[in-house]
Amino acid sequence: MPTAERSLHPVNLPENWNPTSWRERTALQLPTYGDAEELAGVLSELRALPPLVTSWEILALKQQIADAQEGKCFVLQGGDCAETFDACSSDVISNRLKVLLQMSLVLVHGMRKPVVRVGRFAGQYAKPRSADSETIDGVTLPSYRGDMVNAPLFEAAARRPDPRRMVKAHARSAMTMNFVRALIDGGFADLRHPEYWNLDWVGHSPLAAEYRHMVESIGDAVRFMETLSGGSVRNLDRVDFYTSHEALLLPYEESFTRQVPRHWGWFNLSTHYPWIGMRTAAIDGAHVEYFRGIRNPIALKVGPSVTPDQLMRVVDVLNPQDEPGRLTLIHRMGAAHIAEKLPPLLDAVRRDGRRVLWVCDPMHGNTEATANGYKTRKFANIGDELELAFDMHAAAGTRLGGAHLELTGEDVTECTGGARGLTEVDLERAYHSTVDPRLNYEQALEVAMLIVRKQSQ
Ligand code: PEP
Ligand code: MN
Repeated sequence: MPTAERSLHPVNLPENWNPTSWRERTALQLPTYGDAEELAGVLSELRALPPLVTSWEILALKQQIADAQEGKCFVLQGGDCAETFDACSSDVISNRLKVLLQMSLVLVHGMRKPVVRVGRFAGQYAKPRSADSETIDGVTLPSYRGDMVNAPLFEAAARRPDPRRMVKAHARSAMTMNFVRALIDGGFADLRHPEYWNLDWVGHSPLAAEYRHMVESIGDAVRFMETLSGGSVRNLDRVDFYTSHEALLLPYEESFTRQVPRHWGWFNLSTHYPWIGMRTAAIDGAHVEYFRGIRNPIALKVGPSVTPDQLMRVVDVLNPQDEPGRLTLIHRMGAAHIAEKLPPLLDAVRRDGRRVLWVCDPMHGNTEATANGYKTRKFANIGDELELAFDMHAAAGTRLGGAHLELTGEDVTECTGGARGLTEVDLERAYHSTVDPRLNYEQALEVAMLIVRKQSQ
């Protein structure tokens, strides 16, 4: 038995649960498919396809999250708001991996602890929406719900939920995973050469000097260790990388909920670390029902309207036996609300002695629209929410164990501010997100540096 299985001791199987029991509950945010027979055919095709991850990896991550709960490591989770089928390309995948590796290097160096790297990718294709439909010039069509459901173009055919898109999402996720695994196995993450991970920005950014200095000092440390050990230091060329997505489209998730020969219980094998979005977190809803039965480490988004009592009840349903590594709470309050809304939740969890990993998502509470219709976020608000989160946890005697970010390795202009001072006028230059605005590579790096600065205060 591997270490992960031994130390994460089996807890009792959830009662009255099976991979389809969510179907008895109210399921919000699911599309209505027109053709039941076509849907059934697709789901049976999916059930026969190989999974994307293994139970061994899932349990290894669960152990790392248990370690993060004790402050032994920090979780960095990041990627697109919504992946798109078109952006499943070599450049986009490798640039996103590079920026996540660079950020983790900054964090490891500055925080002096290991970083658990989790991508918001290889399955982040389904989106919750605030409205079911959209009306433009008197025409009403279903909302775009992510490439796994329909297409963004405002035309009836594009917006029709198409079950075949689930098969394509699985294939695109598998291609993404395959490329990420191959890059890492091939030495892409080799610590002896962090300079290879550079994106073009390094030459131009106001943060370049700080980053270059860090790379040099890591290079020195590695050479020093190699000298001491007579030439070889193990494990410098490999990192673990895990995947996550919002497990929103339950028929898809159900198809990859499987039993495996060597581990008890049920696993969602479409991703390592699924989360429940804020809009589908009702305690008696289908999503909470589905999540309570899988053995993966799981996360729950917690927004400003959640009361301490509601939170403690959902914690009880999702982790009744207080299993280590099981539950992550991702708070996303907004810079303007965190100081008021977060402390009562931290107190409630601490008072009950419940084991959770607290992660801050400083993106989703800080979304706003510009006068000319762009959805954007101000870098200053993102930074403020993160800094306030560290302060709130310090005051409550709890620990902020991770950050959850929407970012890309591309040079987009979707969030304003940051070292280069992007303004609303810049937004139209390179706005590519189909849903929420992401940090570009430079802004993402800046967030990592901000976390380090805050930590070392
Ligand atoms: C998201 O993570 O893209 C999202 C929709 O977040 P939330 O559920 O927190 O609003
Ligand atoms: Mn989003």
